[in-house]
Amino acid sequence: MEHLIRSLMKSLATNPPKEQGAMPTRTLLRLTLRALLTPITLLCTATLWAHAGGLDQNGGHYQFNSYHCHLGGCEMPDTFNRVGRDSLLIDRRDREKFFNEEDWNFEQDFDNDCQSTRQEMLVLTSRIEARYTNPRNCIVRTGEWLDEYTGEIFTVATQIDIDHVIPRLYAHTHGGDRWPQSKKIQFSNDPLNLVLVEKREIRRKSNRGPSRYLPRKEFQCEYANLWKGLAEKYDLDLDQRDANTLKKIEEDCGTDGLIPEDQRPA
Ligand SMILES: [Zn+2]
Repeated sequence: MEHLIRSLMKSLATNPPKEQGAMPTRTLLRLTLRALLTPITLLCTATLWAHAGGLDQNGGHYQFNSYHCHLGGCEMPDTFNRVGRDSLLIDRRDREKFFNEEDWNFEQDFDNDCQSTRQEMLVLTSRIEARYTNPRNCIVRTGEWLDEYTGEIFTVATQIDIDHVIPRLYAHTHGGDRWPQSKKIQFSNDPLNLVLVEKREIRRKSNRGPSRYLPRKEFQCEYANLWKGLAEKYDLDLDQRDANTLKKIEEDCGTDGLIPEDQRPA
């Protein structure tokens, strides 16, 4: 398995995908990344997230299907006792303090090839051969990337970063806090949910839903489809106004902007 992944990564690194227009390249990338990450994610989560590590702002953390406190003044979240959508809408702000970055990690090197998910994205999406900061090819320094949100081209890896189409904090406050850790990790590393975007634009988007942030016009159909597909795949409750914005975009896009059949969640 690992050997297969490594040789695939190597062949992709030495023969970066040539320009084929936006959609085929993205399709290829998604399929490749999905093939790479899905089994790895499932394999790793069982062993990596034993009781260890960081606390959330509240001073506690989730472990398996429960939550416990470590610091004084720590409150219990309503995660496991609230019912239905109404309480989701009421308590959302309160629940932000229970968000624990570590449960939603995507900086990990899941396949042990010294490249994190971010580095693998950089290698796979560069339109020219990526160059590295060290001889082991762990960290990408330069390449050529199209930022779909702004339409701008970037050549220095530190200018861009991974944006989660549906932000992790948004997922957490919209039902994701009840997920098992393996599902949080899967969501955070799901190729459907990952786009390389200029850092400044990522800050501008922050944790906003589509009613408060949209990328450039040319990418809105695909963006809306990604939101819809991901929300269905992970069974997330979207804000009503976000759902309305998506519906409106979908109507404007017609059938051209739909996610291709093979990438729809089962
Ligand atoms: Zn603990």
